[in-house]
Amino acid sequence: MAISDISENALKVLEKRYQGKDEKGNVVESVEGMFRRVSDTIAKADTKFDNSVDTKKLSDEFFELMTSLRFMPNSPTLMNAGRQLGQLSACFVLPVEDSMEGIFDSVKNAALIHKSGGGTGFSFSRLRQSGASVRSTGGVASGPVSFMRVFNSATEAVKQGGTRRGANMGVLRIDHPDILDFINCKADNADITNFNISVGITEKFMEAVEKQSDYDLIDPKTKTAVGHLSAVKVFDMIVDHAWRNGEPGIIFLDRLNRDNVVPTQGDIESTNPCGEQPLLPYESCNLGSINLVKMLRKTLTGYEFDFRLLGATVEEAVHFLDNVIEVNNYPLDIIGDTTRATRKIGLGVMGWADALLLLGIPYNSDEAVDLAGKVMGYINNTGHAASARLAEKRGAFPLFSVSTYKDGPAMRNATVTTIAPTGTISMIAGCSSGVEPVFAYAYIRNIMDGTEMVEVNPVLVAKLKELGLYEDGLLKKIANAGSVENCLEIPEEVRRVFVSAQDIKPVDHIKMQSAFQRYTDNAVSKTVNFPKEATRNDVREAYLLAYEEDCKGVTIYRDGSREEQVLNIGKVN
Ligand code: UDP
Repeated sequence: MAISDISENALKVLEKRYQGKDEKGNVVESVEGMFRRVSDTIAKADTKFDNSVDTKKLSDEFFELMTSLRFMPNSPTLMNAGRQLGQLSACFVLPVEDSMEGIFDSVKNAALIHKSGGGTGFSFSRLRQSGASVRSTGGVASGPVSFMRVFNSATEAVKQGGTRRGANMGVLRIDHPDILDFINCKADNADITNFNISVGITEKFMEAVEKQSDYDLIDPKTKTAVGHLSAVKVFDMIVDHAWRNGEPGIIFLDRLNRDNVVPTQGDIESTNPCGEQPLLPYESCNLGSINLVKMLRKTLTGYEFDFRLLGATVEEAVHFLDNVIEVNNYPLDIIGDTTRATRKIGLGVMGWADALLLLGIPYNSDEAVDLAGKVMGYINNTGHAASARLAEKRGAFPLFSVSTYKDGPAMRNATVTTIAPTGTISMIAGCSSGVEPVFAYAYIRNIMDGTEMVEVNPVLVAKLKELGLYEDGLLKKIANAGSVENCLEIPEEVRRVFVSAQDIKPVDHIKMQSAFQRYTDNAVSKTVNFPKEATRNDVREAYLLAYEEDCKGVTIYRDGSREEQVLNIGKVN
């Protein structure tokens, strides 16, 4: 069976990180062999429910699903399925209890997860504030931020199975007494580099921002107010720090819990590292993404979505991801038990920006936002229907009867949809990542022997060829600018469609995030890009818009801001 359209870059990524190697580091597995290892392993899960199943046929189906580049599971599934490690999930959340044992258990568990290629999220909100007393020693507590540094160092020391470094999310509630330290903890770009951080915002806090009033700081042990701060000042401090270097992001905790399908199991306190997957403590989730470029069909005048193919792909993908839960080798028993109790999966999309280019629709247009809702709405509906059909054959997820779904049709999975960043799998599939706009249409890549190669977005290549404009000079010009905005050789109506992340206004980024979020059970990984000259007020307005638009969180990045020296970080009194 041939593997369609796989690019040279994709082959390099696969060889480096995914194909099997012997002890000396020689590649001993072909690309085809790698996909076959995955499809065989995932297909086998069906025998648990149906002993007459033709696993060879199902494996062929899963093999074709991946090698046609219609769908890719998250990296750990590609790397570890059918291998000794066998850990297949990208996303984990671990609790951090307010005790030495609890904290260091969590450090150890995170190390085990990182070793297996997964990323971890933590809420540090249960830890007592710095300066609080420690009864057993008579000393004082050092607070959440000092312990985050311990997690950060441990992460630094553990390379993920020789493939990727661990990634972490650190969350602190806005009403934790150490919140100002937390907001400031990544002000220096060289600090706590293995964490993304997000402030856990509550509705109560947002109301206080609106009313310009103070809000209470709550002692995590006694649950009583131990101080108060001006909500506006703290909000502006978050905005100021995000403007400086993109950190912290924010997540809306009450919204994550509004959509918590099993509230009997406790609160959702954190997400995975890139923010798209809220989880309960000790829960894990495996993700997979449909390549929307492959969901288009040619018409006489251009392209259109092939909803039948999309529906069939969703059905296969849900089946695949539910099987992953069965054959997954969990790093801890408690993670296996917690994960199997809700059976969350996260089916999402990639190649959205490339699909829009082919359709001739600018990313920053109402038409694109409407289409986003239509496509994701369709995926969410068909995904839920597929999960309900699986429940008929395999049974509902064990906590279904206490879930918020209990009065509707039985579901196999407590959540079905998530939009992941698809950082690596989109490279394998050769499409734009997640639901992000194209970051740069062309860039110059330095090859190891010192030669330079211009890499150009494949949809732009096809367009330039069609227009008879494909030549070196123009490609270099695009590569230097990163954008086609000022290439007057290219017709205006083409430039209008080929917009890049920097050409798109923050409000359009947020409208797109919100359109996808409306039809996504979990959350959407999205970065709102700002030009270098954006003001703090621009960032503030974007945060407020994301709140109004019912997003579950926001991550921003202002062009060039990570290279800047951080000066005069303000303090709130
Ligand atoms: N992730 C990680 N380390 C990394 C990249 C990703 O632990 O270096 C985890 C993290 O939980 C992230 C999730 O994988 O939120 C999904 O990331 P992405 O979609 O970029 O992963 P891919 O499957 O493309 O490798």
